[in-house]
Amino acid sequence: MYSDVQLHINGKWRAATGGRTIPVLNPATEEVIGTVAHANQSDLDEALEAADRGFKAWKKVSAFERSKLMRKAANLLRERAGDIARLMTQEQGKPLAEAKMETMAAADTIDWFAEEARRAYGRVIPARAEGVYQLVIKEPVGPVAAFTPWNFPINQVVRKLSAALATGCSIIVKAPEETPASPAEMIRCFLDAGVPGDVISLVYGVPSEISSYLIAHPIIRKVTFTGSTPVGKHLAEMAGKYMKRTTMELGGHAPAIVFDDADVDFASKTLATSKFRNAGQVCVSPTRFLVQEKVFDQFVDSFTSYAKSLKVGNGLDEGTQMGPLANDRRIPAMEALVADAVQKGAEVRTGGSRIGNKGYFYEPTVITGLTREMRAMNEEPFGPMALMVPFKDFDEVVEEANRLPFGLASYAFTRSAKTANAIATEVESGMTTINHLGLALPEVPFGGIKDSGYGSEGGSEAIEAYLNTKFVTQAGL
Ligand code: NAD
Repeated sequence: MYSDVQLHINGKWRAATGGRTIPVLNPATEEVIGTVAHANQSDLDEALEAADRGFKAWKKVSAFERSKLMRKAANLLRERAGDIARLMTQEQGKPLAEAKMETMAAADTIDWFAEEARRAYGRVIPARAEGVYQLVIKEPVGPVAAFTPWNFPINQVVRKLSAALATGCSIIVKAPEETPASPAEMIRCFLDAGVPGDVISLVYGVPSEISSYLIAHPIIRKVTFTGSTPVGKHLAEMAGKYMKRTTMELGGHAPAIVFDDADVDFASKTLATSKFRNAGQVCVSPTRFLVQEKVFDQFVDSFTSYAKSLKVGNGLDEGTQMGPLANDRRIPAMEALVADAVQKGAEVRTGGSRIGNKGYFYEPTVITGLTREMRAMNEEPFGPMALMVPFKDFDEVVEEANRLPFGLASYAFTRSAKTANAIATEVESGMTTINHLGLALPEVPFGGIKDSGYGSEGGSEAIEAYLNTKFVTQAGL
C-alpha cells in the first residue's frame, strides 16, 4: 500500500514544519495515491545542523565499520525489494520487473561502495631528505547535498548516498517529489541497519529553493546532481560561486551506430530493448540510430516490428513491457517533437501518439526521414522515441555522432576490431559500449563529457569524488 511520505531529519521521520504536503500521482491512472512532505527553511536548517554533527562523528567511524553497516543495509533492501518495487511502479510507472531489478541492483551498488571505500588508500612519496616522511592522506570531503530525479527513483539516490557514506561523509538528499516513497524506503534500510540518524537527511519541497539554500550554505562541501543540462549548468554556476566540489550527471542524446558488417538482427533487438526500457526516460538511452545504408532497411524493419509488439500498460499488470511516461510533462514534450519532425518532412514508421486519455501512455515510436533541422535531432527526447538515420561511411557517422553538445553514452555494433577501436577513440562520449549493453555497473565509471556534465558516479572515480587529498610532510625529531 502506498502511504504518505515524510521527511527524515536528525534521526526522525516527520511531517514538514508548517505541515505542507504535495500530492503524489500514479502516472498509469492519474489518481492521487498519497502525499509527500514539503520542507521549509527551518527544516533545512535542522537538516544542515544534523549533517554537520553527523559528519564530525561518522568520519571517525572506521571504513571497516561503515562498510559493515552498509552491507547490512544492502541485505535489508534485498529483503524488502518486492514491497519497495511496488511503491516505485505506483509512483513512477515502470513495469514491476524493472522496478524490482532497480531495487536489487541498488543493493549491489551499496555492497560495492562499502567494499571499495575500504581501499581509499593514500600513499607515501619518497622524500629528498633523510628522516622526512611525505604522506598523501584521503579524507571525506564533508556534508553532501544530493539532488536526484524521478526516472530511477532509487538508483539515482543510491550511487550518491553509498559513495558519501562509504567515504565518511554525511548527506542531505533532496529526492524527487514525484517519486518519493521508494527512495524513502531505501534510506530507511540504512537507518534500520544502524547508520546514525544525523548522517542521512531526506527532504522534498521546491527544488530551486532547496538547492539555492543548501548549495550556498557553508556547512555543505559537495554538490551532486542528476537531471537536465540547463538545471545542471545553473547549479554548477552556484556551486562555483561558493567553491563547492561538484558532480554533474546531465542529459544525453546517445548515438547508436550500426555498421553493415554487424549482426544486424542482434543489434536491432539489443538496442530496441535498451531504447524502450523505462519508456526511454533514461539519460543513456540510445536515441539517434545511425545505420549504414546497406543494412538500414533491414535494421529499421526489425526494430519497428519489435516496437509494435511491445505491450504497453500499467506497470503492475502481468506482461506489461512498457509503462506510462512518468509525468504529465512528458506527453506534450513527445507530441511537440513528433509534430515538428512530421511538419518538416519526417515519416513516423510506428507510434507517434498518446494512447488513450487516462494515464500518461505513449506509443513506442520509430521515425525516419530525419534532418538536422528537426528539434528531435537536437533535443533529448527523454521518451520512447527512436530516430533512424542512414550513413555512408565512418567519417560521416563520426561527424554526426559528435555533432551535438552532449557526450554521455554511445553505442556501436560492428564485427571489425579495427572499426570498434576507431569508434572507441573517435566518438566524444563519457561511455562507449560496443557489441553489447555494458553500462552502469557500480564498478565501472559512469558519467559524461561536454554538456552532459563531469565527474563519475561509478568505479573508483566515484569514491575519489567524495574525498579530499591532504599532503602531510613530517621530519623526524
Ligand atoms: P527539469 O529540468 O525541471 O528537472 C530535472 C530534475 O531536476 C528534476 O528531478 C527536478 O526536480 C530537478 N530540478 C529542477 N530544477 C532544480 C533546481 N533548481 N534545483 C535542484 N533540482 C532541480 O525537468 P523535468 O521535466 O523533471 O525533466 C525533463 C528533462 O530533464 C528531461 O527531458 C531530461 O533531459 C532531464 N532529466 C534527466 C535525467 C537524467 O537521468 N540525467 C533524469 C530526469 C530528467
